[in-house]
This record gives sequence, structure tokens and C-alpha cells, in this order.
Amino acid sequence: MQDELWDFFLEGGDELMNSEQCPHCIHTVYLDQAEYDDETDNIIICPKCGKKFKII
Ligand SMILES: [Zn+2]
Repeated sequence: MQDELWDFFLEGGDELMNSEQCPHCIHTVYLDQAEYDDETDNIIICPKCGKKFKII
């Protein structure tokens, strides 16, 4: 799934990527590449620290 998203990112010309900053490790997480929580679509899992946080 993540590879498909990455292909989309490479092929797409969308420069207006939404991103969120992880409150735990200050890592910038791009929403198109983020892994979403199973139960809700406004919580993503930081790829760097592995912690979940809520997005707008
Ligand atoms: Zn983090």
C-alpha cells in the first residue's frame, strides 16, 4: 500500500502536499505517505517514532 502511495506521489504533480508535524518527535509527516489508524481516518502513525497523533 505504501509503495502505491509513493508511486502516486512520484507520478502526481500535486505540489500542495498536506503535511503534519508529529507532536512527539517533531518529524514532518506527509499525509499521503502516512499510515492511518485502522479505526479512524484522522489519526495517523508517525513513521519515525511510531506513535499515533491526531490530525485536523
Ligand atoms: Zn513522531
